[in-house]
Parts: sequence; structure tokens; C-alpha cells
Amino acid sequence: MSKVIMNHGAGGEIMQEFLSRHIVSHFQKSKSDVPLDSMDDSAVVDDIVFTIDGHTVNPLIFPGGDIGRISVSGTVNDISVMGATPIALACSVILEEGLDIEVVDKIMGSMGATSRECGVPIVTGDTKVMETGAIDKMIISTSAIGRRSEFLDGNFLTASEYRKVKDRWCTDANLAPGDVIIASGYLGDHGVALLSFREGYGFESEIHSDVAPLNGMIAKGLKSGGIVSMKDPTRGGLANTLNEWCSKSHVEIEVEQASIPLRDGVVSACDLLGIDPLSIGNEGKAIIGCVPEMAGEVLAAVRSTPEGRDASIIGIVREGRERVILKTEVGGKRVLEPPSGDPVPRIC
Ligand code: MG
Repeated sequence: MSKVIMNHGAGGEIMQEFLSRHIVSHFQKSKSDVPLDSMDDSAVVDDIVFTIDGHTVNPLIFPGGDIGRISVSGTVNDISVMGATPIALACSVILEEGLDIEVVDKIMGSMGATSRECGVPIVTGDTKVMETGAIDKMIISTSAIGRRSEFLDGNFLTASEYRKVKDRWCTDANLAPGDVIIASGYLGDHGVALLSFREGYGFESEIHSDVAPLNGMIAKGLKSGGIVSMKDPTRGGLANTLNEWCSKSHVEIEVEQASIPLRDGVVSACDLLGIDPLSIGNEGKAIIGCVPEMAGEVLAAVRSTPEGRDASIIGIVREGRERVILKTEVGGKRVLEPPSGDPVPRIC
């Protein structure tokens, strides 16, 4: 009999296939702007944006953040990248019997602080305890609702001055040839910081997790106008995000390796560990697709925020096969394959 494996939750192609065959296929199809089977960052039901995340981070506290900060940021970001303003959060906390209450206070304190930082209150929740050994210390699930951003209609109005825009939300299916791809900052920091800290590799003195709520940065971007798609490159990293966009928007994306913001420490850590920095999860970054005519304005708006100060244009969308082409620094080209799963488990 086949069993669940770690890659079924690792954010790559294996998970996508598992979800469609064994999870989503059992649920009733709904009609809405963004239904379940579009497998986007959030769903849209009656113009309310709705999402949920489960968090199983090991260890609970790591350089640059903790499971509490991730649980608020990740959910706020999934709402925001649809073009919505998150308005309230719910959380379910499952604790292992025997866990130090000091740890509970520390993590809940961090959830509260992150919620205040992004201005999204936690308004309801549930707490359960399981026997020692039944779970690993703590699991947090967070859900959120959001409403259409006050800037979204104006944002699409600007975009549609230049081309017809298909969806009325910033979905994965909304890209068209000519669009420009922006990364909001350095990639790979979260995965490398967590892996290094957990395994004792020592890179964490230099590399900290990027975990942060991005609703403020995204609102600024939308206000400038011309954004058509956004996604937070969590599990599976940039490689997964871009490949999902290609298959859902039926386009080819070409990215310039030299333009992708990567810290030297992340590159050398990944070289040493034999993992690809473009396939590792991030928790405080957005990948943004916008019409070319507005790319300069969007980039400037994103860069004017603390979370987006290292943003960079990394590629363009073209007509072609549904694949990602990476232009290497020495001038060659290769296909950036969708990862089968994130190489670093339990980072979110
Ligand atoms: Mg997401």
C-alpha cells in the first residue's frame, strides 16, 4: 500500500500531483472568481479572499524568526498577493504535552507582535493538546480573510491601458507575453538560515530568515498600477513559482541569472550543500508580474519600502512553451525545471 512521504508536502511537482489526485479531487467544485482547483495562493468567494496555512517548522525558533512570526506573515502574504487587504486572522494551536509554557508565551507573543506590525488582528482561534510524542512540540494553523484592495481596480485600469487583463485578481493565470517579472529582494535566505541552524552548518551567523508580512509593500506596488500577477515564493522557491505561472498562464518566462538577488552567503552555502537557491522557500518575498510600461514605477514603489529595498527586475514573459529559461551569467541558456520538492523540509 502506498504511504505519505515528505515530498507530498514539499511544495514541488510531487505535491501538486498528490493534491490534485488525493485531496482536491474529493471536494466539490465551486464557482467563483478563484476556486479551489485553480490552486492559487488564496480562494475568492463572493469577493472575499480566504486562505489557510499549516505550520510545522522545526525548530520553533530560528535566526530571524519563529513559527509564530511565520504563521502570521505567511497567511497575510497569501491574502496580499491576490491583490487583497488582509483584515482578520484566525489561529489553531496544537501543543504537545510537556512543552515549556515559556515557549508557548514566546511564540504567541511573536504572533501578537507580528499581527500588530502588519495591522491584522487575530480575532478567533482554537487550542488543543496532544500526548507526548503524538506531535513534535507545536503545530499552528492560521487562516485569514481579506477584501479587495482599494488600489486593485485602479491598478488593473492602468494595466489595461496597455493590454487586456484576463482575471480581476492577481492570479497565477494572469500573465501575458511582454510582462516583466520583479523579485522583491534577496532569495533563499529563509531556507538556508533554517537548514544551517538546524544542522549546525554555521552559515546562520551571516544569513537570517527573511520572514515578514508584505501587505504594506504590496499595497504600495498596487497603488503605482500595472501589476497583473503576484506570488510569494515559499516552498519550492522561485523555480516553483515561475513554473506554476508558466503552466497556468500558458507562457514561457526567461530570467536572467545575474539579475536574481542572491546573497554571496546563500550562494556559497547552497554550493557546499548541493542545493539550488532558486528552489528553496522564502517567507518575506513576493514575485511580481506587471505590464512592461509600468515596470519602472512598480519597481520604484516596491523599493521605497523596507521589505522591498533590494527588489530587482529579473525576467520577462514570452510566447512559447510552458517553461522557464534561465540565462546564465556566462551567456548560456538552460531550462529551470520545476523542483520535485523543496530540498529543505519543515521550514514553514
Ligand atoms: Mg503562496
